[in-house]
Amino acid sequence: MKTVDSPYWNPKIETMPKEDLRALQLVKLRATIAFAFDRSPFWRARLEKAGVGRDGVRTWDDFRRIPPMTRAEWMQAQAEKPLFGDLLARPEGHAVRYHLTSGTTGRTPLRVLDGPRDWQWISECWAYGFWAFGVRPADVVFFAFSYGSFIGFWGAHYACEKIGALVLPSGNMTTEARVKQIAEMGATTVCATPTYVLRMAQAAREQGIDFPKLGTVKRVIVSGEPAGSIPATKRLIEEMWGAQCADTAGMTELGTIMMFECSKQPGGAHVIEDHFVEEVLDPETLKPVPYGTPGERVVTSFGRTMIPVLRYRTSDLVVKVPHDRCGCGRSFDLYEGGILGRVDDMLLVRGTNVYPRAIESIVREYAAVDEFRIVVERLAEVDELTVRVEVRPGATEPWDALQPRLARDLADAHEGLRINVERAECGTLPRFELKARRVEDRRPR
Ligand SMILES: [Zn+2]
Repeated sequence: MKTVDSPYWNPKIETMPKEDLRALQLVKLRATIAFAFDRSPFWRARLEKAGVGRDGVRTWDDFRRIPPMTRAEWMQAQAEKPLFGDLLARPEGHAVRYHLTSGTTGRTPLRVLDGPRDWQWISECWAYGFWAFGVRPADVVFFAFSYGSFIGFWGAHYACEKIGALVLPSGNMTTEARVKQIAEMGATTVCATPTYVLRMAQAAREQGIDFPKLGTVKRVIVSGEPAGSIPATKRLIEEMWGAQCADTAGMTELGTIMMFECSKQPGGAHVIEDHFVEEVLDPETLKPVPYGTPGERVVTSFGRTMIPVLRYRTSDLVVKVPHDRCGCGRSFDLYEGGILGRVDDMLLVRGTNVYPRAIESIVREYAAVDEFRIVVERLAEVDELTVRVEVRPGATEPWDALQPRLARDLADAHEGLRINVERAECGTLPRFELKARRVEDRRPR
């Protein structure tokens, strides 16, 4: 029985010995595969083709015979049989909710239907995360979220009702009105994207509202962008709000979050292992990589009843580490640093893997750097990687000292790879509001 003092939403499951958890996953997996086979034409054909069939998965090796599914395959199924493809495991009339991917990258959005049980499950997953970060019935939770067809914080809203917290839904309010309401209602928890959380903090300052001084906001829960796990961005959020900040990550294809950061803030997010199988595969060979090795997140969900999701390739770049990396007592493994970026963002430079996000997290440690850009080019048959930085006007550290220090830090994080650091004139590098693109790969294709 859980009390409000328990650090766990689901104490039995979250602290279950690892081997029991693996056995539970396998039981749920077999049921999920049988359900998908019986109900969804798409999955029946795919499982038959893979030679797995309805009941062919008894071990993890059997499971890995199911070919990982790409977003392109999902899109194709949708295009061939509008609107939802032959993936549906229940008739459309069973659904209670419709959602679309955000389509921010200009791609055709994926259409998703949720049934009543999906919706219960969606909020359950969010409840793991909100409870783990300290949200309790006495809390007042503000959602700076538009409540549209993008799934965003919808599930989190219902998780708070499940927990018994007071929810403040801010729909189409202006930033100014939101900030005012957070102060006026004494919200203890604020939820938004990392970018928007910073924007609200800025607006609060302009309105003369000093949240760190008020002390009412205890925690900020972010989602929707990888920046929520970048240490320097997180520190900035915590400083501007005078609160602790936790990262979560979800996706429309699943309707909910798959990982959450607990109140110990271990620098990573726990995978909700009783609701998902989260594999990390080498994106080229599609073979599993060991703990500590970067790879692509491939997800299987046990909770989707309208659209089963088995071995879905997310393109998210992650590094999985064992559960005991965090001292909270959960047996759920962690993704170190949350979602590190997109697998397609990786640059191969003279045999070394370089991830723009890893460079960003180093560069952001330098207060003197205002903006930066990563340039890769091929000079005399050799690939050269250059980080161009703009130094903040009035920065105290002289360039002669900063330049070698930054170059050394970058090389140390990349197996000694030589990374050039050049100075750019103030204001010459492009600025971004959302979804920054700071990489310029000039190499011939
Ligand atoms: Zn933990």
